[in-house]
This record gives sequence, structure tokens and C-alpha cells, in this order.
Amino acid sequence: MTTKNRIGFTTSLPIEVILAAGHIPVDINNRFVTGNAVQNIHLAEQKGFPRTLCAWIKGNYIAALNSCLDEVIGIIQGDCSNTHSLLDLLSEEGMKIFHFSFPAERDYDALNQEIKRLEEHFEVSREQTQQMKKRLDEIRKKLVLLDELTWKERLVSGAENHYWLINSSDFNGDPDIYEEQLDSFIKTAQNRDPLPTRLRLAYLGVPPIYQNLYEVISDLGGDILFNEVQRQFSMPHLLPDIVDQYLAYTYPYSVFDRLQDIQNQLSNRKIDAIISYTQSFCHLQLDNILLKKHLRLPFLTLEGDQPEEIDPRTLLRLESFFEIHG
Ligand code: SF4
Repeated sequence: MTTKNRIGFTTSLPIEVILAAGHIPVDINNRFVTGNAVQNIHLAEQKGFPRTLCAWIKGNYIAALNSCLDEVIGIIQGDCSNTHSLLDLLSEEGMKIFHFSFPAERDYDALNQEIKRLEEHFEVSREQTQQMKKRLDEIRKKLVLLDELTWKERLVSGAENHYWLINSSDFNGDPDIYEEQLDSFIKTAQNRDPLPTRLRLAYLGVPPIYQNLYEVISDLGGDILFNEVQRQFSMPHLLPDIVDQYLAYTYPYSVFDRLQDIQNQLSNRKIDAIISYTQSFCHLQLDNILLKKHLRLPFLTLEGDQPEEIDPRTLLRLESFFEIHG
């Protein structure tokens, strides 16, 4: 019997391969943000990480060291410009590292090759990967339903939508338990009365580092009915082929691929206004320039830095936005 190893990773990748090999997938970002985030950032800074570096990288470094991982897969193309150096630092601490790259262009053969390399590393056949994908797609279908319960039926809040979609990146390490809990949540939600219709908002960008963003937006009278990147993590397209699925996943490719998905969803969901989140010191702030240019709806950019509650200045900006558009 294969040993069940804990395999950390730095952003969504074909976790079907990890699960098919009998291992436990661990999204390091989720461990960071649900752990002692503030303390972890301080620990990383004590080790020499600069203040002017994205807090996720600092927190992920400590979270990776503290999550009893047997190996870390770093996504060195298609995610964060800091990952290469982060992996070198983790390797220096004795961690086993594997590099995975999404192709710069959305190219079937290139991605197929990379998934094959991952399969060879974990000694898994394509047939086993596909079987695991079929299993995970049963759960993903339920996430599509949950998403519809959010924007069509108004039975699920934006914060709840965020929680379930973001955790589908690793299914909390155990798809069976995740599915049981999801079933129970959906059953409860379906018995609720619909939430009142208020300002219909889209949330764009990486998940917020703010601890209370969804609550604040709800208190101000807005409902987030589209969580862009979190929805991408849930692989909602349900395409039968593993390579096609990770080609349809927009996050690793260009901002223009994201824009196409965003524009479709804004119109399907009848969104009134956009909150676009950016992280301090993140290269994706540049993509936000193009999002703002091409999206023709009221658009508010927020910039978060530390894992904390919304600061007074950001709150004021949100209040003014709601005064004008609410
Ligand atoms: S927020 Fe940006 S800089 Fe920070 S880890 Fe994510 S991609 Fe990298």
C-alpha cells in the first residue's frame, strides 16, 4: 500500500493526480489564511522577508513549513512571480520540491505534457487521473448548484459562496468529507427564505486578505453574486477531459482570458457593480488596469495588505461607493 503523503501546493493545479496517487492535497494558501496569519507574517519578516513583499508569500512560507508536508508543488508559470524564490527558500529548509508550469499560451499539447510529467512523478496513469476527475466532478456539479443558489435563487450569501468555492481547491484534503458537509449545507440553504435583492456585485481578483470584507459589504447593502477566482478554483466547466478542464481554468493564463469569463458572468448574473481586489506588492495589480479599462460597470479597486479587518480609509471608500451606486 502506498504511503499517504501530504502534498502542499501554491495554487490550484490538477489535484486529480495527487488524489489518484492516494495522497492528501494541501492548498498552502488556505492553511495560511485559516492559521495564525499575523504571527506567520511576523515570523517570515524576522527571517528576512522584506516588508515590501506580498503578505501571502510570507504567510505561505511559514504555513508550508508548519503544515507537516512531505512535498511542495510550486506553480512556477501561471501564478505568482515570487514562487520560484519561495521554492528555493523551502528547499533550503529541506523540503522536497516539484515544479509545475501552466503553459504561457493556452496550448493543449504543452499542458498535456506537463500533466503527464506530474503523473509520472506520482506514478499514476492517465486513466487513474481521469477516474479521479470523474469522482471530483460529482462534487463540482454540486458546487455549480451552490453557485446558482447564490446568484439565481438568492439562498446562499456571497461569503458562503466564497467559503465553499475557495476550499474546493483541495477539498480540505478529503473530498468525501467535503462532499458530506456540502450536501448538508445545500440542504439547509434550500430550506431558507430567499435573501432580499440589493446591489448585485461581482468580486474580482485573488481572495481577499481582509478578514471581514464580505460582512462589511453586506452591512453596506451589497450582495456578492459572483466570486471570480474562487469560482475558477471550483472548475465549473465540467469538461470530460483533464487537459481541457485545466485549459478552461482562466487564472493561470492572460488577463484577456479572465476578461472573457468575467464579461459572460457579469451579463448572466445581471451584475450592477464590481469590487476588484488587489493585494499590495502583487504583479496582478497590473492586470487590474486592464480589467478596469474593459469592464463597463461601476468599478471600485480595493488594495489589501495585511490579514486584518477593513481599515477606516478603505471603509470610507466603500461607503462612498455605496452612496453613489447603492
Ligand atoms: S497575491 Fe499576488 S504576489 Fe501575492 S501570492 Fe498571490 S499572486 Fe503572488
